[in-house]
Amino acid sequence: MTSEWQRLQTKLPEWVEQSRHEYIHGKVAAYIPELSKAPAEALGVVVMNGAGETVVAGDTELQFTMQSISKVFTLILALMDNGEDVVFSKVGMEPTGDRFNSMLKLELVEPGIPFNPLINAGAIAVSSLIRGNSPEERFARVLQFFRLLASNDTLEYDQDVYDSESATGHLNRSLAYFLMEKGILRGHVEDVLEVYFRHCAVKMNCTDLARMGLVLAYNGRDPVTGVPLVPRRYVQIAKTFMTTCGMYDASGEFAIQVGLPAKSGVSGGIMTMVPGRYGIGLVGPSLNRMGNSTAGVHLLETMSRDLDWSLF
Ligand code: GLU
Repeated sequence: MTSEWQRLQTKLPEWVEQSRHEYIHGKVAAYIPELSKAPAEALGVVVMNGAGETVVAGDTELQFTMQSISKVFTLILALMDNGEDVVFSKVGMEPTGDRFNSMLKLELVEPGIPFNPLINAGAIAVSSLIRGNSPEERFARVLQFFRLLASNDTLEYDQDVYDSESATGHLNRSLAYFLMEKGILRGHVEDVLEVYFRHCAVKMNCTDLARMGLVLAYNGRDPVTGVPLVPRRYVQIAKTFMTTCGMYDASGEFAIQVGLPAKSGVSGGIMTMVPGRYGIGLVGPSLNRMGNSTAGVHLLETMSRDLDWSLF
């Protein structure tokens, strides 16, 4: 056992309790009404090593929906389905500096291509690239892929969160119609949104998320089973987007304070990794102004500083 692993085992519960109080500086997302039911003061984290062993602390049994974290994996699946040229003819590679659901910059890149696959417009475009003959078939493929990466055949989407977002997702609908007008979307708007809302609503816990992060940490090969699941190049692309735009408009600050590729979601989940070593899954539903878990970011800052994890 490494001394770093031992230190994690000793310190993680203490760090979680210190960071938990940070929830008071944020709010649980309510624009998708169902999400507002999450417990604001919850905080849980799982660190998983290449042998599949874990150090866990806090509320790690809490189930939450992936929300924007799912966009990393739909991007990878779309790349595996279509290759880089097709995907990057529909979506760009640059951070926006705007809110995740913003319409502001859509007109600025010819011919209306979303800036990157992690903002909503880009992720909706990516969802339309997943192969399948119907929305059901496309989502079934996405879910199968998530199950494979999480090594958990029981993953499902949360019907209540899906219904809640589908009923209130007017802004995403308008983004999708805009993309359709520009010829970026394939298929019908409602079919594409059905796949998008469903993959955002896939429910899991911190262990599932850590396992998915672990596959990225090991460049696409599941280190526990030894099975290659994702081409290395696509993991490289995904990790680069996570670094440049994974934490919304706080991605620059996160790179300075934590220094690891990461993706957060409005449910309060964060997936991150220490390349070649650990996958990390975390949840803390109270969000700061930028949309990231307040307690979660605080905890990752503590961990990264103490264990000298920054890649930079
Ligand atoms: N399903 C959410 C939306 O489209 C995902 C947002 C997020 O987690 O950033 O608004």
